[in-house]
Amino acid sequence: MFTSISGRSVLVTGGTKGIGKGLAAAFAAEGANVVIVGRDRQAGEQAAAGLTAKGGGAVSFVPGDVSAAEDCAAAVAAAQERHGGLDIVCANAGVFPAATLAEMTPGQLEEVLGVNLKGTFFTVQAALPALQRSGRGRVILTSSITGPITGYTGWSHYGASKAGQLGFMRSAALELASSGITVNAIMPGNIATEGLADLGAEYIATMEASIPLKRLGSIEDIASAALFFATEQAGYITGQTLVIDGGQTVPESLEAMG
Ligand code: NAP
Repeated sequence: MFTSISGRSVLVTGGTKGIGKGLAAAFAAEGANVVIVGRDRQAGEQAAAGLTAKGGGAVSFVPGDVSAAEDCAAAVAAAQERHGGLDIVCANAGVFPAATLAEMTPGQLEEVLGVNLKGTFFTVQAALPALQRSGRGRVILTSSITGPITGYTGWSHYGASKAGQLGFMRSAALELASSGITVNAIMPGNIATEGLADLGAEYIATMEASIPLKRLGSIEDIASAALFFATEQAGYITGQTLVIDGGQTVPESLEAMG
């Protein structure tokens, strides 16, 4: 049904684990060539080697911190050099440490906004010339339900960063439309990743009870949507969001789930 994306060049930030690694796996399985970015060199090299061994497109790693514009530029340069251009950018790297407003330090605020929001800007800015040359450029952001739709104690900085990504998306979609580049965002609910596991068993049990489909989302649930946004068939969709949350944002209360 969908035309192939085999041979496309893809950059995934935060690809060393979690959702980003799943995005890289899904694109590589379709024959796309992927560069993943993250700070953990060992995890990145292992992830790239493991995904490449599965066959499909090539997956390689570039160390980098997306809160540094120069690291984003280096990652984009590597993707172009290794794969002859850049067609698809997944701005996915993110952190979600908790801090209440009363306790949050300027440094904690800067870290979350720096990685999640400024990192999105730096990644897309660095990729712009290559995406323009591609003629079929795609930007796919990993936002969240937290911030744009819901709130959570301790995550005001995180929620602001994720809502901020959507503000970025709408203006970027307009600026890039004339180059044929689409900019869309996925808004995951609670997805089973290493990062989510770090929040603890009690958090996960509470979330599962709040999800009408009664399970955490899988990395593949998110990757399928990213693949769709990357297809030719999604080429008329831009500046839009897709919530993937097992229905978590639908009920008014636990009683409403029946
Ligand atoms: P994760 O398992 O903790 O993975 C986070 C990824 O981001 C890692 O690859 C990490 O790599 C990378 N990263 C973090 N800081 C970075 C930095 N400064 N520069 C470059 N890479 C960095 O998290 P996840 O659950 O997969 O989350 C991925 C994205 O999905 C985030 O944007 C998050 O906000 C969003 N999200 C997740 C959920 C969920 O339920 N899991 C829900 C909604 C939204 P290194 O450690 O190697 O740097």
